[in-house]
Amino acid sequence: MGRKGDRTRVYAGMLLGVTALCTLTLLLAAGDSAIRAFAQQGAQATAAPGPLRGMTVAVDAGHGGYDGGAVGRVSGVPEKGLNLDVARRVERLLRAQGADVVMTRTGDYALCDENPPIRRKLQDMQRRAALIRMNEADVVLSIHMNEYAGRSESGPQVFYREQCQAGRLLAGAIQGAMIEGLKPSKNRPALGGDYYILTLGVPSALVECGFLSNREEEQKLLQEAYREQVAQSIVQGLLDWQTLNGEKPEPLPAVDRSDEPTGE
Ligand SMILES: [Zn+2]
Repeated sequence: MGRKGDRTRVYAGMLLGVTALCTLTLLLAAGDSAIRAFAQQGAQATAAPGPLRGMTVAVDAGHGGYDGGAVGRVSGVPEKGLNLDVARRVERLLRAQGADVVMTRTGDYALCDENPPIRRKLQDMQRRAALIRMNEADVVLSIHMNEYAGRSESGPQVFYREQCQAGRLLAGAIQGAMIEGLKPSKNRPALGGDYYILTLGVPSALVECGFLSNREEEQKLLQEAYREQVAQSIVQGLLDWQTLNGEKPEPLPAVDRSDEPTGE
């Protein structure tokens, strides 16, 4: 190699040196900002950016697939799609408050096989329950729309597991927030009910957002803006419950269903 080559090598060496220096500076700067970001993260962890941080909420959109649930008296719209829409809104709002969310379904389907060896509804419920257990949810919110033979019944109605004081407190907070947020013409108290999804051993509430059998309420529930208000009220109820002073009652233990046919 001649002198030209040597010179090239020198230039190349200088270039390499400059590049290395730049890289080093960049690395140092990056390291510095990475450390700062870390420190900020640490600060956030202790300052709790959302009031629901550390809480896993199971959001269960009722029905789905073959099982449409209640049907709008005038529109014929089944509750399954409205449930999923409200559930998704609740999911988004909960995440914004720092919660982890487990959705039992994210589309229009039931969680059962086409021809299971047990009742389809039972397999669907078993799989929802298994999902919630697997994700170790701290709270269960099941979203539904109501219907009744008489058309005059209206207003949101929240259920808790019968005799479960923990669920009663949660359902009561949500019922209160829905009355406050939605201003229904009829104010209902939270009620005890016998529902599969409420028996998993954690504070649980089943929210009937309104009556699809009532003409006026059906019209409201078909509106996106109203469903957003419904979701906001539900999440507000959970926040109210979360910040309740004093010790919360322990939920009743999960119902042992080991003797139930699994159909697996
Ligand atoms: Zn339902």
